[in-house]
Order: sequence, then C-alpha cells, then structure tokens
Amino acid sequence: MIRFENVTKLYGRDTVALEKLDLEIEDGEFVFLVGQSGSGKSTIIRLLLKEIEPTTGVIYVRGKKLSAIGRRKVPRLRRDIGCVFQDFKLLPNKTARENVAYAMEVTGQRRRQIRVKVPQILDLVGLGDKMDKLPNELSGGEQQRVSIARAFVSQPPILIADEPTGNLDPETSIGIMQLLHRINRIGTTVLVATHDREMVDVMRKRVVALEDGRIVRDRVKGAYSDEV
Ligand code: ADP
Ligand code: ADP
Repeated sequence: MIRFENVTKLYGRDTVALEKLDLEIEDGEFVFLVGQSGSGKSTIIRLLLKEIEPTTGVIYVRGKKLSAIGRRKVPRLRRDIGCVFQDFKLLPNKTARENVAYAMEVTGQRRRQIRVKVPQILDLVGLGDKMDKLPNELSGGEQQRVSIARAFVSQPPILIADEPTGNLDPETSIGIMQLLHRINRIGTTVLVATHDREMVDVMRKRVVALEDGRIVRDRVKGAYSDEV
C-alpha cells in the first residue's frame, strides 16, 4: 500500500528532515506516526501527497512509484488519499453539507451522487442533525467531524490525519479517534501523525516513532513511548 525505500529528504543543503527511511504500511493498517516537532512527520505526509519530492530513495503508493507519476496525474493520487488537518481547513462561508459537497464537486463527481452521499457521510460521523450549520456554529470536535466526512466521502483507500486532535479537548479527541477507528475497520488504511500521547496509548495500534528523521521504534501494538 505505502512503501518508503531508503528515503532521504533534505531541505536546502543541510537540513536533514528524513534520513534513509524504510517504512512499509500494508493495506488496511492503522498506524500512528509519533515524534517531537521537527522529527519528520509532516515531511512523510507531504512526500505521500507529492507536495515535495525525496532527495534520494523511492516511494510507492498502491504499487505506483510516486516519482513516475506526472504532474497531471497528481490530482488522481490525491483523490486516493483523504486528508484531515489539525486546523480543520473548512470553508468558513459554507455549511457542513456544502463543505463536504464542495470536495466532491471539485473532483468532478455527479450531482446525483453528491446529493445521495453527503447526508449519508454526515450521518456516519454523527452530524446528521447539524448539516446546515456553518463552521463557526459548530464545536471544534464537530468541525473535525465535518473535515473527516469531507476527507472520506469518496471513500479513498488511504486516510491521513495530521494532528487531528491537536486542537481538541481529551473527551472530544476520543470521539474523533473512534471515528478514525471505524473508518479503518471498513478497510481504509489510516495514518495518523500525532503528539497525543494519551490517544496513542489508549488505541494500542501500530506505532512508528521518529527522531531526527529516523525511525527509532516500530511496534505492532505500541504505546507513545516504551516505558508504558
Ligand atoms: P514534524 O512534522 O515532525 O514537526 P517536519 O517534517 O515538519 O517535522 O520537519 C522535519 C525537519 O525539516 C525539521 O528540522 C524542520 O525544521 C525541517 N523543515 C520542514 N519543512 C521545511 C521547509 N519547508 N524548509 C526548511 N526546513 C524544513
Ligand atoms: P507542524 O509540525 O504543526 O505540522 P511544521 O513546523 O512541521 O508544522 O510546518 C509548518 C509549515 O512550515 C510547513 O509548511 C513546513 O514545510 C514549514 N516549515 C517547517 N519548518 C521549516 C523551516 N525550518 N524552514 C522553513 N519552513 C519550515
């Protein structure tokens, strides 16, 4: 599904963001990427989305070498990878329903399909009764649910979340994690970059720990740090 082979990423001449990284994530896995700020988590995500290119090494997504994907095919790649961010990135003047619908419109999906799918997905994330609210009428947790609905409405095989609970209180965070867990259970590969120690420890999923651009730990049912 996702494979990094000996990937090194330098910014400029001497900022080493990733160093000779090898990482393989199978279909349907749920993986936490943990590590301090500056350890390389965002770089991994940006490489997967082909926002940046590795300095050396090879990356595969769903059997395809990313370096072989031309500029025109990048939107196609990104359609396969739903993204959720710490700051939600919702359009402020659009309702929950419109935010999700808009994501489908820009990828060229049919009106009929959009009309059917949007309420279904908002129901799935528990916002069936708040579809017509604007982002500023929703709590942080509800806004994050909208952004997950938006990322997942076309059922991409891969869902990536960058600090999805970073702006949320612990209780709300648990709800968001449960939602990601459900999305994973129906077969989606889920990759979550996070500092949220409590969440990682509760979920008992695979944990890949980064330090200075290197993997220092990879556990099948891991915790945020080893001493737990
Ligand atoms: P994380 O997501 O774990 O905080 P990053 O992948 O953002 O880590 O950063 C890894 C390293 O690369 C850090 O030293 C960071 O300062 C550096 N870095 C990230 N993005 C850039 C950039 N656009 N230009 C220069 N250095 C960068
Ligand atoms: P976060 O860890 O919250 O994801 P980052 O610090 O990794 O945030 O990066 C935020 C933005 O700033 C990214 O676009 C990243 O590429 C850029 N950035 C990070 N570190 C540097 C740096 N040392 N020099 C220039 N840009 C950077």
